[in-house]
Amino acid sequence: MPELPEVETIRRQLAPRLEGHILERLDIADRRWCEPAPPDDLRDATAGRRIERLTRRGKYLVFELAGDVHLVVHLRMTGNLLLLAGGDPDPPYVRVRIGISSGETVAFTDPRRFGTGVVLLGSEARDEYFASRLGVEPLDPGFTLEALRGLARGRTAPVKAFLLAQERVAGVGNIYADEALFRAGIHPLRPAGTLRRPQLGALRDAVVASLEAGIDARGATIDDFRNPDGARGAFQDRFLVHRREGEPCPRCGATIVKLRAAGRGTYVCERCQPRPRARAYAARSSSRRPSRSASRSSRKPPSDRSPTTS
Ligand SMILES: [Zn+2]
Repeated sequence: MPELPEVETIRRQLAPRLEGHILERLDIADRRWCEPAPPDDLRDATAGRRIERLTRRGKYLVFELAGDVHLVVHLRMTGNLLLLAGGDPDPPYVRVRIGISSGETVAFTDPRRFGTGVVLLGSEARDEYFASRLGVEPLDPGFTLEALRGLARGRTAPVKAFLLAQERVAGVGNIYADEALFRAGIHPLRPAGTLRRPQLGALRDAVVASLEAGIDARGATIDDFRNPDGARGAFQDRFLVHRREGEPCPRCGATIVKLRAAGRGTYVCERCQPRPRARAYAARSSSRRPSRSASRSSRKPPSDRSPTTS
């Protein structure tokens, strides 16, 4: 699933090609993309408007259009935004086409069809939409040690689940949570509320460093993710622990293991990231098991559309 660095990579590549041009047409071939709104409503609200800025919030990409109209797109599991020149044939799995006055087209491709789009009228509506779904933006100055402390206080959930909850820290998913916890030397099953101040400081820095490393590599391509020009990201070749089960830890040489945390496959060096002490672990297990349902946040799609996770 594309996370903050993948969406930011898309934004950085598309922004110079789109900003200042007119969004001429929004053709939604799959009405599930925008339900419950009818595709015609989104088309009529956006067509003919100038694309003033392309921005990002968490894992959402926002086309800021003239007249304070916002087209908000989420890639979910397998969505991609590809930039096509005039004569280019359609790639597979195109669900939405955005025609630009430059003659180029942005194609939203999505084999598994969990991606979404919504049009929000006015900055207030946009801000409300995000406020109900997303917490602090980890690359913004507001993501401080004190902010993270406030969020973690009293939390009994494993820190991995804590990091994946978009309403606390926006944009971190399975890859970057594993990488950040390894960098900080924190076990993913450690209850978030038991982390001490120095550990929270290390975690804050590690989240930022992991996300910035991902952006530097233009994202991670494990299966579907592509840059808008079709190129693969390179971060998958630079993972420290994620997907490196059985390989030596890059720091100490112990074997990286795979376990389950927050319902997700999670990669750990248990020498660099010591397990929580038995008492804390037992207390957490009895009060709140790290089950799939506990890890799901309320902003996820309804269960009949929920992606299965690995
Ligand atoms: Zn290690």
